Amino acid sequence: MKKPVPCKIVEQAARKKLEERGVTIKDIASIVFDLQRPYYPSIQMEECIESTDAVLCKREIQHAILVGIELDELAEKKQLSEPLQSLVESDEGLFGVDETIALGSVFGFGSIAVTTFGYLDKQKVGIIKELDERKPQIHTFLDDLVSSIAASAAARIAHRLRDRDENRRLDEIKKRETEDLIG
Ligand code: MG
Repeated sequence: MKKPVPCKIVEQAARKKLEERGVTIKDIASIVFDLQRPYYPSIQMEECIESTDAVLCKREIQHAILVGIELDELAEKKQLSEPLQSLVESDEGLFGVDETIALGSVFGFGSIAVTTFGYLDKQKVGIIKELDERKPQIHTFLDDLVSSIAASAAARIAHRLRDRDENRRLDEIKKRETEDLIG
């Protein structure tokens, strides 16, 4: 069996890809901020940045980022075979694989992440909308990946907030997080 790729390499590659495609942690954190503010009026941007960063530490998300962005880039270079090239290039509404890959990576963060992902898929706010308008670049997969990261980061904050309200200690919160999540 081939030696597994070190996690650090995968994480660095995923973060670099996001950056190269013009998406910063701050862009995603702004969406998280807007999502959570109605439920948590005193929320600070730093907390949204921290949560987005924590979500990016998850393997499932890193893998989804690598697969999705690779397909966007191949489509930009017209290197996919037909009819896949046309489906990805035109962001065909019924294609659905872009949403499926992104959705797969929110499950580790529970039902709030899943429903929030569905909301962002329909609403297309902030950088998600911008990506949609950055023609002639192709972001068929990336817009859904950003929705997935934002949805997971928002759900993570919602759960942490409850834990804090119930005066759980930070080490206890962290322990629960580690046990609840995969990757
Ligand atoms: Mg899409």
